Amino acid sequence: MPNARLHQIIGILLVVIFLALNYIVPVFSFSVIDIILLIPIILFYSILPDIDIASSRSRRMVTAASLVIILACFWLDKKWLGISISVALLLLELVKHRTFIHSITTALVFSLPFWFYNPKFFVVALVSYLSHLALDREVKLF
Ligand SMILES: [Zn+2]
Repeated sequence: MPNARLHQIIGILLVVIFLALNYIVPVFSFSVIDIILLIPIILFYSILPDIDIASSRSRRMVTAASLVIILACFWLDKKWLGISISVALLLLELVKHRTFIHSITTALVFSLPFWFYNPKFFVVALVSYLSHLALDREVKLF
């Protein structure tokens, strides 16, 4: 089973290939700032599917960020949002490894928020996520 570092290296390589192809046939224009912002997205999205492993790096990152957000929700009197995030974190405990989290549908759903910010970030997040699935040989629709 590939580890997190290998997933991140392959994710970066695929996005470099994507950027090189984009340079040859320009679909998107990437600025230097775009590329700097893309690095943490690539590093995170290439390991995100392993959020279904309790001890994974991505689970620890999401849990830590969620706890901060939950505290902020209660601080800002957004209790229902805090409770919803808490429930989502608890439900994550029930998800088995390499089930629906390791699917193309989840890749699209998890990458979708970037579409509303910047479509080229969506594509890079999606490519990073899909590179993880390909390396795990778990490319399935659902
Ligand atoms: Zn995986």
